[in-house]
Amino acid sequence: MAAYTPMIQQYLAIKEGAKDAFLFFRLGDFYEMFFDDAILASRELEITLTGREGGGESRIPMCGIPYHAAEGYIARLIEKGYKVAICEQVEDPAAAKGVVRREIIRVVTPGTVMETKSIADKANNFIVSVSALDDNYGIAACDLTTGELYATSVHRSLDLVIDELNVYYPVEVVGDASVLEQLMESAANFNRTILFTVREPMETGQLGEQFDASELARLTPVRVRAVSLLTGYLAETQKRSLGHVRQIRSYEPNQFMILDPFTRRNLELTETVRDRSKKGTLLWLLDKTCTSMGARLLRRWIDKPLLSKASIDERLEAVDKLHRDLILREDLRRDLSEIYDLERLVGRVAFGSANGRDLNALRTSLEHVPSLTALCAASGSQTLRTLVEGVDDCADLAAMIGTVIVDDPPISVREGGLIRAGYDEYLDRLRDASVSGKKWLAELERKEREATGIKSLKIGYNKVFGYFLEVSKANLSMLPEGRYERKQTLANAERFVTPELKEKERLILEAEEKMVDLEYARFVELRDHLSSHMHRLQRLAEMVATMDVYQSLAAVSSEHRFIKPTVTEAASYNLVVEEGRHPVVEAVMEGVPFISNGTNLTRDDFSMLLITGPNMAGKSTYMRQVALICIMAQIGCFVPAKKAEVPLIDRIFTRIGAADDLIGGQSTFMVEMKDIQTMTEKATSQSLVIIDELGRGTSTAEGMAIAQAVIEFVHNEVQCKALVSTHFHELAHLEDSLPKLANACMAVQENADGVTFLRKLVPGAADSSYGIYCAQLAGLPEGIITRAYHLLESLEQPAAERTELRAAGVLNAAREAASAVELPDKPVPVAAMASVAAESASMYTAPT
Ligand code: ADP
Repeated sequence: MAAYTPMIQQYLAIKEGAKDAFLFFRLGDFYEMFFDDAILASRELEITLTGREGGGESRIPMCGIPYHAAEGYIARLIEKGYKVAICEQVEDPAAAKGVVRREIIRVVTPGTVMETKSIADKANNFIVSVSALDDNYGIAACDLTTGELYATSVHRSLDLVIDELNVYYPVEVVGDASVLEQLMESAANFNRTILFTVREPMETGQLGEQFDASELARLTPVRVRAVSLLTGYLAETQKRSLGHVRQIRSYEPNQFMILDPFTRRNLELTETVRDRSKKGTLLWLLDKTCTSMGARLLRRWIDKPLLSKASIDERLEAVDKLHRDLILREDLRRDLSEIYDLERLVGRVAFGSANGRDLNALRTSLEHVPSLTALCAASGSQTLRTLVEGVDDCADLAAMIGTVIVDDPPISVREGGLIRAGYDEYLDRLRDASVSGKKWLAELERKEREATGIKSLKIGYNKVFGYFLEVSKANLSMLPEGRYERKQTLANAERFVTPELKEKERLILEAEEKMVDLEYARFVELRDHLSSHMHRLQRLAEMVATMDVYQSLAAVSSEHRFIKPTVTEAASYNLVVEEGRHPVVEAVMEGVPFISNGTNLTRDDFSMLLITGPNMAGKSTYMRQVALICIMAQIGCFVPAKKAEVPLIDRIFTRIGAADDLIGGQSTFMVEMKDIQTMTEKATSQSLVIIDELGRGTSTAEGMAIAQAVIEFVHNEVQCKALVSTHFHELAHLEDSLPKLANACMAVQENADGVTFLRKLVPGAADSSYGIYCAQLAGLPEGIITRAYHLLESLEQPAAERTELRAAGVLNAAREAASAVELPDKPVPVAAMASVAAESASMYTAPT
């Protein structure tokens, strides 16, 4: 093998430590990439691929980007799910013997970007780790931009891991190989494209440097392992202090309502099904926050509805107060809108990337805090009072920034102009020296003009030659001989220096260099000081964010006429809503009023509704509305209704719509069956089950059979509150055999002009002929419509004559469907369902 040049050898050695990343290798004013990195990067970034000799047998593929444009290129690679290792020259090339020393100073990855270009303000950017220990999985999630770190664990079930991961919308997951391999296989279950990286946990000692022993002692071993995996990866990639990641918030998953990824999507909580945008989601509707941290917190609240009545009531109390007190709300909003993103500012301070403007933004934000806390303290709301009780408003830190940093600092922290006069005596003296030096220059210019009589003579400065006297070509003859030393010739001028000027220059430049260094040192001192008070600022940021969410919920509730729900313990069971509405559909409807509908799912009466009615009648809107009302109540928001009694729901399970059916290339029916399988296994009597169009995607007889079996199972075994819609009107008879099930339908009015959807939920089953009516409305030829009515008549015969499917066939199909669904060690539900399915299938099937 031919020997590479020393620089390429250095490159290869460094690349060894960053195999899974693009290596941005600093060469002068460029970051260069070589070999395969260069080939791939040139394609991904659409930049020219060149080559260079490097001592090898053939030219080495190479491409590069200017260092000052790096952020944009890095952002593009990160967005595509790559990592970028940034390798800098770490010694002065002029002083270096041989190849300049270079080191990777940071690895930027999708889950650890700090650059504002790459991250949304109003969403967190979480990186998550998953650990496996004995029978448990640990999960830790960190947003490096804000310093939040959460830890939890689940027992055994990988599904629960997936549910929990999805709460964080992670773009990057690190962890133990065993569990990551399994997670990669279920990529379709994630709401984001995820970059997976296998790693080992940190050494215990190292972990102890990052966190207090008391923080770690509170965690179970599997959680410590998750935190360790994550912290290790952050240390490896960031290579700097993570001073803002000190506090670990540990929680139990069952402190929150469980929402699987499909339910989150179906209900469009934070992303729409169609294009994953925010507009048109519950988050979009509820977000009237004034700060980005408030917006992020609101999202977290929506992602994790509470399961503690006391905590919900606490939130509702604050929202209620702010809902009634418009003036208080407006005052809060006014102050909040003056507050910058404290969490991210603090993150940048800790990260060492905050500049003078960031610190001033921090200061002005802090200056608005006392007014905010005073408003809360005097609000009359117990919750708001408690929120601000004994709060540390960090006034000392604000004052300190005010003394150190000038009002309008430059972006750069390395070029001076940052530190206020009067803060540092020596700095002031240097400044005086520089100012008087400049005065001296002005005076010299005046004197030289006088002495030579050249009016256009001027003193200038450039980086190469320093200060000089410039005389235009036309005036050269007027210069006396000997006094000036020629330095540079331009097209129409000459530049000169004098010994006197050079001496003064030395003094001025020295002072300026010292000044810049000193300013930087003072700035860093301040930043470090703030950094050591990080936890105080973080606590404050959290308080402000919480206030912001309260006022947002109150403002939306007021604007959309929401009312305060009565939240009851799960055991109270009954979900009673008067005149409920779908908050988002209502908000986006123009011109037409939204028709309200009540809900009455109770233990003693009916806990289950079987809803029939034609397409477009409003069935799925209604079912979603019920789920959303429960979620809104459990995050502590008012609800769209006239009156609402909402029991704590431990889990909402939905099976709705066709939008997600194509995921992973699975058939509609298979997806439906898998979802239902999960439901049978996980739903408890305190859950809410919503199934839209149960039993689609297979033949009528089978579909109906399975639908009935599922309904019976939910009714008899799970006994939870449930809403099921179906187009099988034939299932209406179930009302007779299932005491807790009631038929309901969306009312439709027929008149001479056709059919009008009334959007009203009424008792009883729908008349089945609306489907043909819809076809008529859609403009199908008269002949088809008449024929269809005729056929319908002949089909409205006893069930036994309706289908040709044989009992044996249905039985097999049902068994197949059941067994195709993977059964864990508790096979009861689906197996039980299968036999019921088979049994009920025979009801719709002619005997052999
Ligand atoms: P289905 O599930 O029965 O096919 P949808 O729930 O999708 O019907 O409703 C169809 C459309 O009807 C919705 O997009 C909405 O615009 C409108 N709609 C539904 N419910 C109501 C309501 N209660 N009031 C007014 N419009 C409604």
